[in-house]
Amino acid sequence: MRRRTVRITLAVCLLTGAAVYAGRGMSMKCHAKPEKDPTTGRTAKPCGYEAMVTIGGGMFSERMTGYCRACKKFVHLSWTGKNIPPQMKDRIKIRPHPVPLGEVWDAQTGKVLTIHACPTCKGPFLEIKKFDELKHCPVCNKPHFAIDKSKPRIAID
Ligand SMILES: [Zn+2]
Ligand SMILES: [Zn+2]
Repeated sequence: MRRRTVRITLAVCLLTGAAVYAGRGMSMKCHAKPEKDPTTGRTAKPCGYEAMVTIGGGMFSERMTGYCRACKKFVHLSWTGKNIPPQMKDRIKIRPHPVPLGEVWDAQTGKVLTIHACPTCKGPFLEIKKFDELKHCPVCNKPHFAIDKSKPRIAID
């Protein structure tokens, strides 16, 4: 009886371990309803912004995701992961963890937010760590940005 418990715990550890290292890509879409103009009574076009968002790194490289407002796209920074085997260290170019642009303190939430530089324009962006954090559409800013379940998901190794 005791043996079985141990085995189950081990299986759970392996599963959660895999989930931490593997990156995932999801098709996301803005589901905000179009607004009616109060003066003309006309309905505007729906936002419908779509993007394939990938969060998380692969086996040997870590990756950070964010949205750059200046470039109007999701951007990524990557660096060499901690899990690379020693024999690989001499063969590949080690990319260090990106140096942040700085920190800001948000008075409303009390959070300290670390700002990173966009790889294209060097402008500021905040890291999005989980799909759960991505609630607002980066284009219309409405809280209706969600995973498009009709599209396939991808896994990154
Ligand atoms: Zn940019
Ligand atoms: Zn939108």
